[in-house]
Amino acid sequence: MSEVSAEQSGQAAAPLAQSVVMKFGGTSLADAAAIRRAIRIVKQRMPQKPVVVASALADVTDHLLAAGQVAAKGDAASAEASLRYLQRRHEQVALDAAGADAYEVLRPQIAVEFEQLHQLLPVISTFGELTRRLQDQLLGAGECLSSRIVHAAFLQAGIDAVWLDARECIVTDAAHTQATPLWDETNQRVLDAVAPLLAELRVPVLGGFIGSTTDGIPTTLGRGGSDLTASILGAALQSSRIEIWTDVDGILTTDPKLCPEARRVPTMSFEEAADLAYFGAQVLHPASIAPAMRKNIPVAVLNSRHPEGKGTEIVAHPGDECVMKAITAKKGVTVVDVQAVRWLAPELLREIFDVFERHQFTLDLLSASRGSLSILVTSTESLPAIAEELKGLAHVRWESRKALISLVGERVRRQPEIAGQVFRALSDVDLRMICQGASERNICFLVSESQAEDLVRRLHRLFFQSRFDRYSSSVAVPLMCQAGEG
Ligand code: ASP
Ligand code: MG
Repeated sequence: MSEVSAEQSGQAAAPLAQSVVMKFGGTSLADAAAIRRAIRIVKQRMPQKPVVVASALADVTDHLLAAGQVAAKGDAASAEASLRYLQRRHEQVALDAAGADAYEVLRPQIAVEFEQLHQLLPVISTFGELTRRLQDQLLGAGECLSSRIVHAAFLQAGIDAVWLDARECIVTDAAHTQATPLWDETNQRVLDAVAPLLAELRVPVLGGFIGSTTDGIPTTLGRGGSDLTASILGAALQSSRIEIWTDVDGILTTDPKLCPEARRVPTMSFEEAADLAYFGAQVLHPASIAPAMRKNIPVAVLNSRHPEGKGTEIVAHPGDECVMKAITAKKGVTVVDVQAVRWLAPELLREIFDVFERHQFTLDLLSASRGSLSILVTSTESLPAIAEELKGLAHVRWESRKALISLVGERVRRQPEIAGQVFRALSDVDLRMICQGASERNICFLVSESQAEDLVRRLHRLFFQSRFDRYSSSVAVPLMCQAGEG
């Protein structure tokens, strides 16, 4: 007989409904000053029973990844040097944020973590490649370290915090670097480990991003995965709210680095936020909305530098009148054209998907015609092998350095004028794979990467900076969202 899940048995008792999960991203934990800001924010939430999820300190995951990659190429000396730099940085932040006494306890913990990392380097060099499994071991250290430092700093600041090993709470499959939680197992462990602490009014602190298989092998949830950790915890605990603390004022109408005029979007539906994350908005992990949505738990995206700001509130029914919420550009996309030698029979389609799946490829978007299939992917790693496997059945060609531009909003598709405006405005551009049938909430198309920034700026100007002038006559409701103060 299968085990009864926590959810089925209704173990998430009413008192837990009071908790709030607070995830702090790397930039919100970049240094001691940032950690002190996080402490002030958490202290204000004490009556709501916070559960704190920490990302790695800013840029640490990138540095660890780079160290692993150079180790794989045989440059052990550079990898060692990177680790030494990271160790010094963690020690400095630990000392500054937690104070000298706590540092005495933290320093050996940091040393043990780095000792393990140093031992990984020769293993990576021997393999000659950074395998996915080794990558998970390497990258996960960032969250182990940051969560310990945050925990010590909280204690020092008078918060009754308890550090929990996230790898013992989040149980996943073995899809290393992109693991998916095993829900029943994870819910149970979260209820067992986290809920009693909340009942005692203590503050659990966990690293985001990391988990482990049922055999205890470390995994990660994909880059940016701490958001998903927060959502998993919120869903398991039936929290009243999940807060994603970052360094921007919320979800913005587009990437502010591309377009400084980008403005805060005050409210969004779960589906809109999930689409935005999927189509490349960096602010949220693509899978992070689903658990919150299933339990109907509001998610807020907030700025840790301006904690008094309203941020973006993501709920089931935001009740706003906006047609379009945001424009995203997902770069680094490759379009793969699979041309059937004869015709695209259903068996061939199945074979094509099987081959992609065997190579662990995530298919992003596809369009098919009689004899060919176009697929978008974000890694070209296995494409030569895939082409080889399909030889004789189909010709496989690909073109990299593409960008997928998406316009997202609950009613984008129900306003046919919008597609017209977009394509008229971009009539000088070679658009590929225009796609507006699959979802009600978006229109997307592929362009060459070099054009992406300019096009996003043009579209942003069109829809968010010229509100009623050019479009009010043909469109009854505001095209853009009533953006906040930014
Ligand atoms: N530190 C991890 C990353 O940079 C996870 C996260 O920050 O959410 O991808
Ligand atoms: Mg993130």
